Amino acid sequence: MATALAANSDSRAITPALDQIRAALGDNSVIADRASLAKYVDSGSLAGPDAPLPGAAVMPTSVEHVRALLAIATQHRIGLWPLVGSGPFAASADRAGQLVVVDPQRMNRILEVNEKYAYALVEPGVTYAQLHDRLRDGNPPLWLDCASQPSSSPASDFVNRSFGYTPYNDHVIMQCGLEAVLPDGSLVRTGMGAMPKSSSWQLFKYGYGPYTDGSFTQSSLGIMTKIGIWLMPAPPACQPFMITIPREEDLHAAIDILKPLKITMLIPNTVVVSHLLDDAALSAPRSKYDSGSGPISASAAAKIASDTNRGMWNIYGALYGVPPGIAVGWKVIQDAFSKIPKAGFYTNENRKDDPVFAYRSQLMCGVPAAPPSTTRQWNAGGHAEISQVIPLTGAHAARAFDLAKGIAREHKFDYPCSFQATWRSAFLAGTIPFDPNSADDRKRAQACAKSIVERMAKSGYGTVAAPAEIAAEAASTYSAHNGAFWNMHRKLKAEFDPRDVLASPFPLSKQT
Ligand SMILES: Cc1cc2nc3c(=O)[nH]c(=O)nc-3n(C[C@H](O)[C@H](O)[C@H](O)COP(=O)(O)OP(=O)(O)OC[C@H]3O[C@@H](n4cnc5c(N)ncnc54)[C@H](O)[C@@H]3O)c2cc1C
Repeated sequence: MATALAANSDSRAITPALDQIRAALGDNSVIADRASLAKYVDSGSLAGPDAPLPGAAVMPTSVEHVRALLAIATQHRIGLWPLVGSGPFAASADRAGQLVVVDPQRMNRILEVNEKYAYALVEPGVTYAQLHDRLRDGNPPLWLDCASQPSSSPASDFVNRSFGYTPYNDHVIMQCGLEAVLPDGSLVRTGMGAMPKSSSWQLFKYGYGPYTDGSFTQSSLGIMTKIGIWLMPAPPACQPFMITIPREEDLHAAIDILKPLKITMLIPNTVVVSHLLDDAALSAPRSKYDSGSGPISASAAAKIASDTNRGMWNIYGALYGVPPGIAVGWKVIQDAFSKIPKAGFYTNENRKDDPVFAYRSQLMCGVPAAPPSTTRQWNAGGHAEISQVIPLTGAHAARAFDLAKGIAREHKFDYPCSFQATWRSAFLAGTIPFDPNSADDRKRAQACAKSIVERMAKSGYGTVAAPAEIAAEAASTYSAHNGAFWNMHRKLKAEFDPRDVLASPFPLSKQT
């Protein structure tokens, strides 16, 4: 960490701006000591323990503070990087010290929970854990769809276009109305919120005129200060299930069986088809099973499968509604998957002591939860997470998995991954787990991640999430019509933010 702590020494360049920020927001609104700034940087990223720190972080408490910050940043030509707290901040070493993280942890008011219409209006620092605590005692009870960790927030998950695990999984669809401060200081409300005295800001998404909410996702066009989200009324019953598929080659058949069940919405939530290693990584690090280097041995994998009573693929979904309807749906699902040799069928009744199933069950039933371990911890804490979108068919799933796993093996890495079937497609969410303290591992992991992005794109599978260090490579695969897509967004960025005040991992800002 010593090297990282030294890396923001050019933060002197932002000192006049920080003085002005302290005067406008209060002395205790600025974090500039290096030990405290370390929390904004991910030491398990491809940059490793030397990941450069931001010059400072600021904690506004109001919209007026956010406006003041933008004015000061514009005047001093420094960059602002909004983050919810866990990060990652991921700027290059030559820029990082002149960037200031905007941490909204003090903008954490739950402005409204509307039980009649099942929505909430929150500030960007409100976490899933906080909102869930508030909803727990509601009448009627409302569920929260959580995409990652209880410490993350509905606002950042919307900006990131994350998907959770209940039927309200798609966070862009379930967002309704937002408020943002643009780089020029103007305060914008979208949808029905653009109308004074609107009675339906959180009830109807579109308003009149262009629909712009999506423009605030993965874009750095504004700092969001409020977000409306729809909440799912708790159903009479929720039955999570798990289906184990012993052989890796049966992925093809499993996804073909799953497709009609998803498209007809017989299974209405995100269905996770998790590889054995991905499930294993949620309960313990790799060293528990195999102390060697390189991809895990077949014998160690077989031992994990038998110790944890899992297949090479493990399907997780849930059924919702009244118990008789759930019973019928579960029978349809079991009949369909029983065509796969030795498929195993589980619910909470016959799988009581499985911490991974318990964790996934909580997420599928509207409870923010954290697993005993994470895929990030699988190999010494280094993780490069990359997701592609594939059409929801067995042939595509098998082809994409073989390709990505093969590339990981070429680079001598495991490939813990899962398919997450949402509407008509699935994410293939994979992790390259590496040792962040080894320069060689970091270099190989970066080459591996780049190769996956490039070769998957050649097969028609677009990357939708990638480490900041390879954001440019991921973006360059969206190159149709001479890069018209990125050209359009660069024009928008130049118009909204001519001084390039807002930075982000997405390749629109020159700040990073
Ligand atoms: C253990 C783990 C499990 C995960 N599982 C899933 C999963 O199952 N499904 C899934 O889809 N994703 C998953 N993720 C990814 C996760 O959802 C994203 O990392 C998440 O959206 C980021 O949350 P954060 O609080 O760290 O956000 P941050 O990194 O703080 O922010 C995310 C983005 O939003 C921007 N942003 C934040 N606040 C604002 C604001 N006020 N205004 C404008 N822009 C803003 C940031 O600049 C950044 O680009 C997982 C991540 C982890 C660590």
